[in-house]
Amino acid sequence: MALLYGLLLLATLSFSHLVAAEMTVTLEEPANDVEAKIAKRLATSPTLKAVTEFINTYFDTPKGVTLSFGSYTRIWHKNRHIEIPYLFIEDTRKHYKNTRFTHKNLDVDTYTGNVLLHVILHEFAHALIAHYNLPVLGKEEDAADTFADVMLIHFFENGSDVVISAADLFFINDKRMRRFVKEDFWSEHSLDKQRYYGRLCNAYGSNPSAYNNIKRQADFDEDKAERCIYQYRQTEHTWLNMLIVAPAFKAGVAIH
Ligand SMILES: [Zn+2]
Repeated sequence: MALLYGLLLLATLSFSHLVAAEMTVTLEEPANDVEAKIAKRLATSPTLKAVTEFINTYFDTPKGVTLSFGSYTRIWHKNRHIEIPYLFIEDTRKHYKNTRFTHKNLDVDTYTGNVLLHVILHEFAHALIAHYNLPVLGKEEDAADTFADVMLIHFFENGSDVVISAADLFFINDKRMRRFVKEDFWSEHSLDKQRYYGRLCNAYGSNPSAYNNIKRQADFDEDKAERCIYQYRQTEHTWLNMLIVAPAFKAGVAIH
C-alpha cells in the first residue's frame, strides 16, 4: 500500500532501550473454509503489518495490547484485548463488491485493508482510553472514530483516503438498514450516517483544497465546509495534546 511508505521510514527509528510490551496479533484457529481463507490473507496482510508497526513505534502500552482474529460474533475490546471476527472481513469484502456508489473507486483488497486499518485504530483508542484513563467528553465511540481519523491523517501518507474508505463502510451499512429501532438511538455508537459524514468532514477539513470533491460528494454547503476545517483542527489538536500529556507516545518519538 502506497500510503505506508512514509510510515515505514519512520518505523526504522530504534526503541531498543524501551521495555518491549507491544501490540501482538493472533490468528485463532479458523472454524471453516471461509475463515481459513481470510486467516491466510491476514497472515501476509501489509495493512496488519503496517498498523502493528505504527502502534508499536509510536505508542507506549506498558502492559501490551493483544489483537485477535477469530470466530467471534462482533468486534470487541476489553482490558487491552481486541477481538475482530474473520467474518467481519468477509462481509466487508462482500458488501463492497455489491455496492454501486463509493467515494474512491478502489479494488476490494485495498478497500478492505483500509477499513481494517480504521477499525483496528478505533479499537486501539478504546485500549488507550482504558489504559491511561483518558478524559472522554461525549461519546467514547465518537472519540474512537476521531482518534482513527487523526492518526491516519496526521501520520500516514494518504491517510485521508483510508478515512474515506471508512466513510464508505458506514455509507454501505446505512444503506443496508431497513428501519431504525429505539436501540439505534440509545446506542453508544452514533448512527452509521452520522459516522459516515463525520469521516468525510474530517477528511475534507484536514485538507480542503485536496478534497474539494469530497465536499461536493457529501453536498456540504459553505457553512458546513468551514466548520469541518475548524472541527478537524480542534480534534487533531485535542487528540495529539491528550496523548502527549498522558503520556501515551513513546519517549523519543517526535510529534509535529
Ligand atoms: Zn468502539
